[in-house]
Amino acid sequence: MRQKTFLVPTLRDVPSDADVISHQLMLRAGMIRQTAAGVYTYLPLAKRVIAKVESIVREELEAVGAQELTLPSLHPAELWQETGRWDKMGDELIRLQDRHGRDFALGPTHEEVITSIIRDAIGSYKKLPLNVFQIQTKFRDERRPRFGLLRGREFIMKDAYSFHDTEESLDETYQAMYKAYERIFTRVGLTFRAVIADSGAMGGKDTFEFMALAEVGEDTIAYSDSSSYAANLEMATSVRVTTRSEETSQPLSSAKVNAAASIQEAAQQLEWPLSRTVQVLAVKIDEELALLLLRADHELNEIKSLHELHAKSLTVLGEHEIKEQFKVEAGQLTALGNTSLKIYADYALEGQSGFLMNSSTADECAIQVDLNRDLTIESYVDLRLVQEGDPSPDGEGTIQFARGIEIGQVFKLGTFYSDSMGASFLDQNGRANPFKMGCYGIGVSRTVAAIIEQHHDDNGIVWPIAVAPFQLHLLTLNSKNEEQATLSEQVYSSLKKDGWDVLYDDRPERAGVKFKDADLIGIPLRVSVGKRADEGFLELKVRSTGESIDVHVDDLAETLQ
Ligand code: ATP
Ligand code: MG
Ligand code: MG
Ligand code: MG
Repeated sequence: MRQKTFLVPTLRDVPSDADVISHQLMLRAGMIRQTAAGVYTYLPLAKRVIAKVESIVREELEAVGAQELTLPSLHPAELWQETGRWDKMGDELIRLQDRHGRDFALGPTHEEVITSIIRDAIGSYKKLPLNVFQIQTKFRDERRPRFGLLRGREFIMKDAYSFHDTEESLDETYQAMYKAYERIFTRVGLTFRAVIADSGAMGGKDTFEFMALAEVGEDTIAYSDSSSYAANLEMATSVRVTTRSEETSQPLSSAKVNAAASIQEAAQQLEWPLSRTVQVLAVKIDEELALLLLRADHELNEIKSLHELHAKSLTVLGEHEIKEQFKVEAGQLTALGNTSLKIYADYALEGQSGFLMNSSTADECAIQVDLNRDLTIESYVDLRLVQEGDPSPDGEGTIQFARGIEIGQVFKLGTFYSDSMGASFLDQNGRANPFKMGCYGIGVSRTVAAIIEQHHDDNGIVWPIAVAPFQLHLLTLNSKNEEQATLSEQVYSSLKKDGWDVLYDDRPERAGVKFKDADLIGIPLRVSVGKRADEGFLELKVRSTGESIDVHVDDLAETLQ
């Protein structure tokens, strides 16, 4: 490829609106341009890298038996209404209407669409298991599109969906996909960890996120320094029971574990993520455990949302549900109905004489329970997230934290979609069963940005060879010099003949400009044709190490091997 006519609009200065390295470097290296917030144009260099990542993804998925297809981006609302996600997705779903006023969405993910296809296409266990994937543009109206390709509103995702008759079959594919992901992320040159993740509201159970380690990552990973344990911090909870009089760490009784789990579930249902500083306290009311103290981040707006949470969570505690309805007004939580419970919320802080005490410190939010009948605050459960230095959950080593970028996720969905959409097959006995499903995503465009976060230096990108836009950058330092121009042309054609993927900088620019651009673009090998062209000598330089040697043109092919 001749650079003179290649669309690589490099920039000298760091763009002011880009705060992370990958975003800055992709703009500066002429790879991308922003078209709208979170919406990017992939220029030819980026397109080439994306294509490399995609072909690695394709190879590894096909190797485990996945078949490629393409599902539409325009989804009729009816499909999303079948699973209830038309409402649940909220503002992240980009909605539109056609000329007849029918509702549509732009696909943020494709469980509904693929399930509707398989529901009609497969009727018997004999056709299972099935694993299909696509690589496609996804649309999500992210609240905070940012960091360039790391969080876009339009981005490229590889999504795969598998269908099974048995749990064992689902498990087998899930494991195979997990292994394929390990190979994919290793091949593209990423340092990553697979972490236990939160299955959220999707009704699934097992799930792992693949995290590329990077300071700019929006997730915190808690991992053990001496075992393979690693979890997304939001999942890495440690539970500690504190009695009223003294703090003792002790194993939880199963009732309390259940209570803790349902509290966590309640917080999840309300989409109120457990952040590092959240504490959940359980208060004993008669024989029932009710929730109830949550400590939020040090932000008052979070405290406000706690009140909302209290109001709702009291009705979603499952096993320990309190049947009454509650209303919240100006920090007061009052039980409605003919009960003697009077509950009010106040800002309170754990005090010296007990854990519930009025306080003006708005750091914690408590519900104080005032009963006409006897109430004993027996103990509270401190469900806090693990902290660095804690022993680890699997009994080995201590917990360390790292930041990560979620580049992929594997997920056992179970039968949530097939149940709600009535997608079933006939088993060996002729009985109808819902498909068991798995889904598997990789953020392709985000992966490209993550690679740059891990592979760059002060001068620019340092591409791992497997995903580099070109293998070799050929530079003519002075294209007006005839000897240099002639030798460069000769080298260019012989490299191409040998199968090298070459970007040839034949521009009438100064050598300094060419070197700077070459460093910025980051192609692994650089061959410069300069002053020694008359003797047939070239300079060969390795981008990652900075090593360089002079090579005679006759020895170039051999040296490059
Ligand atoms: P996140 O937690 O970062 O919002 P997610 O869990 O919502 O991501 P999934 O639904 O698991 O994302 O989608 C599969 C993959 O798609 C993710 O693992 C991620 O790599 C990628 N991805 C998700 N959202 C975006 C986005 N806004 N921009 C770029 N890639 C994304
Ligand atoms: Mg998301
Ligand atoms: Mg996520
Ligand atoms: Mg995810």
